[in-house]
Amino acid sequence: MPSKFATLLVMKRLVLLGGGHSQVEVLRQWVMHPQPDTALTVVSRDLLAPYSGMLPGFIAGHYRYEDCHIDVRPLVKAAGARVCQSEIAGLDLDNGKIICPDRPDVPFDVLSINTGSRPDMEGIPGVKEYALAVKPVDIFIQGWERILAEALSSEGTYRLLIVGTGAGGVELALTMRYRLTSEAKALGQDPARFHLSVITRSDEILTTHNRSVQRRVLRALEHAAIKVHYRETVVSVEPTHLTVEEGKRHDFDALIWVTQASAPEWVKASGLATDDRGFILVNDGLQSVSHPNVFAAGDVATMESTPHPKSGVYAVRQGPYLAENLRHHLRNEPLTPFTPQTRFLSLMCLGPEEAVASKGPFAAQGRLMWAWKDYIDQKFMRKYEMGMSPMSNDDVGMSEMYCGGCGSKVGQDVLSRALSNITPYPAEGVVRGLDHPDDAAVITYPPGSQVVHTVDHFKAFVDDPYLLGQVTAHHCLSDLYAMGATPHNALASVTLPHGPEIMQEDILSDLLAGANLVLRAENTALVGGHTTEGEELVFGLTVNGYAAPEDILSKTGIQPGDALILTKPLGTGVLFAADMRKKAQAPWIAQAIASMLRSNRDAAHAFRDADAHAVTDITGFGLAGHLREMLAGSQYGAEIELDAIPLLDGALACSEAAIRSSLFPQNLNAECVIANRNTVPPHKAYPLLFDPQTSGGLLASVPGDTAEAVAKAVGGWIIGRVSDDPNLSGKFNLRQ
Ligand SMILES: Cc1cc2nc3c(=O)[nH]c(=O)nc-3n(C[C@H](O)[C@H](O)[C@H](O)COP(=O)(O)OP(=O)(O)OC[C@H]3O[C@@H](n4cnc5c(N)ncnc54)[C@H](O)[C@@H]3O)c2cc1C
Repeated sequence: MPSKFATLLVMKRLVLLGGGHSQVEVLRQWVMHPQPDTALTVVSRDLLAPYSGMLPGFIAGHYRYEDCHIDVRPLVKAAGARVCQSEIAGLDLDNGKIICPDRPDVPFDVLSINTGSRPDMEGIPGVKEYALAVKPVDIFIQGWERILAEALSSEGTYRLLIVGTGAGGVELALTMRYRLTSEAKALGQDPARFHLSVITRSDEILTTHNRSVQRRVLRALEHAAIKVHYRETVVSVEPTHLTVEEGKRHDFDALIWVTQASAPEWVKASGLATDDRGFILVNDGLQSVSHPNVFAAGDVATMESTPHPKSGVYAVRQGPYLAENLRHHLRNEPLTPFTPQTRFLSLMCLGPEEAVASKGPFAAQGRLMWAWKDYIDQKFMRKYEMGMSPMSNDDVGMSEMYCGGCGSKVGQDVLSRALSNITPYPAEGVVRGLDHPDDAAVITYPPGSQVVHTVDHFKAFVDDPYLLGQVTAHHCLSDLYAMGATPHNALASVTLPHGPEIMQEDILSDLLAGANLVLRAENTALVGGHTTEGEELVFGLTVNGYAAPEDILSKTGIQPGDALILTKPLGTGVLFAADMRKKAQAPWIAQAIASMLRSNRDAAHAFRDADAHAVTDITGFGLAGHLREMLAGSQYGAEIELDAIPLLDGALACSEAAIRSSLFPQNLNAECVIANRNTVPPHKAYPLLFDPQTSGGLLASVPGDTAEAVAKAVGGWIIGRVSDDPNLSGKFNLRQ
């Protein structure tokens, strides 16, 4: 039976670049009115889109992280879109491709850009190195949390300097002061030791607002003991001070940069028509004036007929027009003009739950204004909480139309086009591989070696198939490394979600490109595989390798006096569980992904060279479960130092918030081998012993005399020792 989509003429690829305030609306509209003849892809550096209106409230402590971030992922899923989590490095407009630094090019027929702006940091030596820019917001939040901790743990005067006195700058100064003061009071510290100042090159603050608003905010700054330095243009920044034009110097412990918006370099280099500051010039339909298949909205765009200030309000207002005009363009219909309002309402947080309202000549202030702001912002956020389903009648009963068995195989053309983009590693001994496709792969292994096989697969736990391909490859290879084997070839097993051919092809290309990138780096040939269609994306690899019999490592064989070395921090399970609940901060996930993308090859070689008595890799059963396997049947046991166990950033915070991965309850079965589980004092890292890991590290039992050097060589941690205490045989004790 043909796939529903095979009968449709699938012609176009629409790519949304950036998940800003306008583009989340495009996604929302797409969920309600999908275009069946268009494959949708989202390229963005983050999938938790910060809502800048609530950022000052978050800094003040009025909102939690998840309150002020729109989770783009459920929208993307409901819209049936593909995700490429990446930053754009360049645009090839002639060939319709987005060039990314870390992944294959992303092709488009129609492109919609909503990547925002960043504060202008050009031409001032030292500013990029020593100042914390307010955007990207995820990096800013991470930096702010570091500054907050540093300030509260410092002694004596702590100087916080903020450059820029637009709405963003003054709101941040006021909310940072409020937060520092409330946290300091809670700790019994004197908040007066925090010295805050703002710097502006102008002779007034809030230059685009009326006098009454300026006066009110000035009063708030004065009341918060925030000093304003006027007519000072920063010319250079050093690690602990900056210098302004007349040579005057300001010392700081932390420097925040909130100056006017600047355009990204890649726009200027792309050939798109821009205004004189480098922002994309668009017509009233939000369409590039030079390239009709490119649309842009929000800070990154300038409307040729009616330029307006860079402000989230416009990005939000443009959202529905952008969605509508993309649809019109795809159907060759005339565009609907967007007319920006000349005056718009701004509501600025003053630190406590109090705000100043500003619109044209109007000004008002107080707790009521905060309540108003809070109402507007929460209403906006609620719009993007998922719970919508596509409205298209075409979709009724879609699932009944798909075949199973061989009928669910993905079309040959899709497969061959996806495969044509990759070059497998040319491993010696591949007699029949993808370069000479046959019914099966044929391999010759080195004489005298033993062949080692492993298989694993995952439902997509990251949204980007290219990333999923890479992590899966590392995870699967890790089993062979833990055995002391050399990987040689791999077979891919793919379940693609039902959808248009063009979309399946893009997803498959990304998956295979990601997996092949890692397999090539690990000298492993991709020699074949199988693709099928299903409800959701699933990817797995069978990896085959070989080893001389004497080189094979085992998970059993620990010896008394051995040290136990772990090569990667724990926490991927809890972090991705938190991520699904929108509770994980973007830098935590970025660090977890970086850890999952680290190969275990070098560590395995080092353990083999160090005559490790036992090696295993830490995956689904968690540290306790895999340690249990290592100890099983042994007459020896282990002493584990809880404080020595390395954890990924955020893992403890998520665990303390009682977030658990779905495998956690089963993994708790390993508690039965914790000899002192009833007497060991509670420890905050304890639940993480049972946290399932994806592409986790190796755990090795290494002779004690060389363990320090081996741990250093593999970048690992000694987390405990093997013990010959007969009471511990097959079990372990926890120490702290
Ligand atoms: C502290 C502060 C408070 C503010 N408060 C308000 C307010 O109350 N009201 C208001 O109207 N305005 C406010 N603003 C201004 C507001 O932040 C911006 O005008 C608004 O965010 C612009 O929205 P946007 O949709 O264009 O882009 P953004 O919201 O910045 O979104 C851009 C998106 O694109 C992604 N992206 C960026 N670069 C790339 C790249 N190279 N490749 C791939 N993806 C990329 C980002 O990850 C992000 O998802 C405030 C600004 C600050 C600094």
